Amino acid sequence: MPAVQPAFPRSTVLGYPRIGPRRELKRALESYWEGRSSRQELDRVGAGLRERTWRRLAELGLEGLPSNTFSLYDHVLDTAVLLGAVPERYRRAEDPYFAMARGTQGLAPLRMTKWFDTNYHYIVPEVGPETVFALDAAKPLAEVRQARALGFETRPVVVGPVTFLLLSERGAAALDRLDDVLDCYAELLGVLAAEGVAWVQLDEPALVADRTAGELAAVRRAYERLGAVAERPGLFVAAPYGDLGEALPVLAATPVEAIGLDLVRGGLDGLAALAGAGSADGGPAGERSAGEGPAGRGPLAGKTVVAGVVSGREVWRTEPGRAAYALRVVREHTGDVAVSTSCSLLHVPYDVAAEPDLVPELRARLAFAEQKVAEVVELAHAAPSGPAVAPEPVGAPAPVAAGERGPYEVRAAAQAERLRLPLLPTTTIGSFPQTGELRAARAALAAGTLTEAAYEDLVRAEIERAIRTQERLGLDVLVHGEPERNDMVQYFAEHLDGFAVTRNGWVQSYGSRCTRPPILHGDVSRPGPITVRWARHAQSLTDKPVKGMLTGPVTIVAWSFVRADLPLRDVVFQVADAVREEVRDLEAAGVPIIQVDEPALRELLPLRRAGQAGYLEWAVAAYRRATSGAADGTQIHTHLCYSDADQILAAIDGLDADVTTIESARSGGRILGAVGGFGRGLGPGVYDIHSPRVPGTDEIEELLRETLKALPAGRVWVNPDCGLKTRTYEQVEAALGAMVAGARRLRAEP
Ligand code: GLN
Ligand code: ZN
Repeated sequence: MPAVQPAFPRSTVLGYPRIGPRRELKRALESYWEGRSSRQELDRVGAGLRERTWRRLAELGLEGLPSNTFSLYDHVLDTAVLLGAVPERYRRAEDPYFAMARGTQGLAPLRMTKWFDTNYHYIVPEVGPETVFALDAAKPLAEVRQARALGFETRPVVVGPVTFLLLSERGAAALDRLDDVLDCYAELLGVLAAEGVAWVQLDEPALVADRTAGELAAVRRAYERLGAVAERPGLFVAAPYGDLGEALPVLAATPVEAIGLDLVRGGLDGLAALAGAGSADGGPAGERSAGEGPAGRGPLAGKTVVAGVVSGREVWRTEPGRAAYALRVVREHTGDVAVSTSCSLLHVPYDVAAEPDLVPELRARLAFAEQKVAEVVELAHAAPSGPAVAPEPVGAPAPVAAGERGPYEVRAAAQAERLRLPLLPTTTIGSFPQTGELRAARAALAAGTLTEAAYEDLVRAEIERAIRTQERLGLDVLVHGEPERNDMVQYFAEHLDGFAVTRNGWVQSYGSRCTRPPILHGDVSRPGPITVRWARHAQSLTDKPVKGMLTGPVTIVAWSFVRADLPLRDVVFQVADAVREEVRDLEAAGVPIIQVDEPALRELLPLRRAGQAGYLEWAVAAYRRATSGAADGTQIHTHLCYSDADQILAAIDGLDADVTTIESARSGGRILGAVGGFGRGLGPGVYDIHSPRVPGTDEIEELLRETLKALPAGRVWVNPDCGLKTRTYEQVEAALGAMVAGARRLRAEP
């Protein structure tokens, strides 16, 4: 510690979008990956984006500028590199960083999974007993120096040691490497102090979920140890995405100087309880002597609370009354308060000003990253006694519709009779490659330089291409390929009332992939059929069954920005009713199989166990409300993609879909251990579509053999992990060819 620790800045944000206001990073990455530009050119784009961000934040009046929040792919992967946790097999790759992120032809990438309850995906670090940690501080140092050269002092942001290990492949078991990892973090603190850095931010979002006593002990050990480093910056531990709960007193008892609380999701009760509990060594509860000021003693004395009162997850303007209320409570309990966002602004778009098409009334209610920074600055300057209102309680549960379909056995028999599929039927998840031509056509349509009719012709031709490809490859259940969809959620949002879509509201999903979450701002209803004519067209081209393809209500809501004035559950039920109408219309058009995707079912699962059962109950009920109008002979498929589906398998079973396709390949077939009791059709993905790597037939065959050890052959489906829209036709044809060949080999066996 320097002799006098500089005060924590009055205003800051925990992180900022990094993909670029016009997705500059996406373009630079893809150009580099395709060999069209050099690593130097990529790094130049990165440097430009960082510079732009710091300048903008400073212009807006923000005092505490973060650095090292930029990433070429993922900040968890950056942390693995920082700690030297690069598995041996990637070290000889031409570019080990991107080999870990995306794989190479000879090497599968590291696993990727969702970051807490967001739609951001991180790369899962591998930390084994053999991992040799060695600090490589090049990236944070380079960012600090770049900013300094521009005249800005910054606070490097790094994933904290406990969260890093908990998020790694072995989860809590990896805490056996805590002391070794702490050596690296301690060294990092020394390096940053030598560089003249005043504060460092260690993100510990893992602490907002339920943690065991052993894990909390690890938190204590970590921050005692880092606090004891002689020459170090001030330690700011941030805990976004929820309430610190029992981890707050643990953290408060360590020497960390600042604690970041997500006060949008919770935090106030714990803070009040902690302050009321008196000092950590059991001093008199709530006792305060005159002249000592608020929180003059107790575990929070001398600490800064970085109050996350501006939501990093929603796009609505901050209600000044609510923020003022939270700030007032925090000020009552601690000596020093800084204003911040609840989490990194990574999850919101850059700027409302880039949305000229939105109606003024809606625009006036919105705040994206830039507007949120301005709000933080304003709140930091506001007088501490504004009008303050406590948050309102939420409403009562919505009614649940009972399932109307027959039992599975009856449905399965009716469907077998109607569909006459072979053993181990092959299918895909829905999307086929979105060609550049198609995207350009959509842009031209939006710009008014292409007619609706010409665009529709193109979509029809693309559907035909997908159908012909699948017929040629020998798939059993075909898809139309989703060429008319810019995105599986946005497309539906554009065709439902109650949603608005943005022009530039991109949010990073993983690596170079971004989505433009629609804004759900009013009551949802379906003005008319959405997908029926495309499904009809596709089915008219082939005798093979073609699946109708819909996005489920939970996913539509999870991947949208939602209104804050209704409980989430009620919003999801409104969407479920709209999907139900679409299912009815598809069925009436003769579509024999309807897939209702719910890839986000797991994503909305509350981080703490206390809320999980209640959530799953209404989420499953919403799905059934959407699908239970289908006749027994109509086969309902669902698709979920994430590697830890085993955790919610009972809920997935509860969806009562006839066939469930699920990610499996990238998680090393881990799901197979858990699916034995699954009572209906199941298609654990046989290859990873996130990577350009093409699987071999032997590999597929091997995976299918593994699958058949866990499940009866009559219930196994053969499909990729997820949709194919990010791949090329060349890759898709090779991969699906291998997939069909693998399935046929097994079918041919007695
Ligand atoms: N049907 C969608 C597709 O294939 C599903 C995508 C997803 O699960 N994320 O693209
Ligand atoms: Zn998927």
